[in-house]
Amino acid sequence: MKVYFVGAGPGDKDLITVKGFNLLKCAEYCIFAGSLVNEELLSALPSGAKKYDSSKMNLENMTKVFKEAKIANKDLVRLHSGDPAIYGAIQEQMRVLDELGILYEIIPGVSSFVAASAALKQELTLPGVTQTIVITRMEGNTPMPEKEHLSKLAASTPTLCIFLSIEKLSEIVKILIPHYGNECPIAVVYKASWPQQKIVRSCLSHIDKLVKDEAITKTAMIIVGHVLNKEFERSILYSENAR
Ligand code: SAH
Repeated sequence: MKVYFVGAGPGDKDLITVKGFNLLKCAEYCIFAGSLVNEELLSALPSGAKKYDSSKMNLENMTKVFKEAKIANKDLVRLHSGDPAIYGAIQEQMRVLDELGILYEIIPGVSSFVAASAALKQELTLPGVTQTIVITRMEGNTPMPEKEHLSKLAASTPTLCIFLSIEKLSEIVKILIPHYGNECPIAVVYKASWPQQKIVRSCLSHIDKLVKDEAITKTAMIIVGHVLNKEFERSILYSENAR
């Protein structure tokens, strides 16, 4: 018996890996992240598989299901949105599994920040602009370490991918303008890869109003950086001298 932490991808059911999908087809137990994971994926489970929505559970409830699957000697898929390693709270689940003596494996997934850049048809690193991507969030219930305050991360003007923070967009913009400038492009991608996907593109000084007009209040990725200007040098990788 094993627990598989599977990245379900950003929404589009075809964006799960083949490995993750094959595991889903055989899992008698599944704990899935309701609302963020595409529930169409659950139809791949064997008929009669036990399904649990993690958005209605705490770690103790999940532990009970892990124990039940162990007693039944059946594999369990723990289906996370995007990639399980990013804001997935998987480390505490793995600690529980270690304590219970249950084996586990992680199957990576397509994170929403790469799904958002695909929706934007945008490379996140461009020669002469930036070679660094920062994945971060604003403080919510989870506190932010002081040294990771957005103003500090912004000082070197990398491409920023900001998760879990759309409701703090006006505060984000205020922090970023001194570093990136009023005209720096920013994009908000709501529900990347879902049929309801929406893209709002603007500059730092105008984005907040446009996002409010679209009534986007959750499940959105904020991407900020001069890469969105599309002014850049050719890559060295595919330069004529490299061949
Ligand atoms: N592990 C996930 C992130 C979970 S945290 C991943 O790798 O994508 C949840 C946050 O991810 C949301 O608040 C939102 O910021 C982002 N998110 C998840 N799915 C998204 C999607 N389809 N489009 C845009 N943002 C998404």
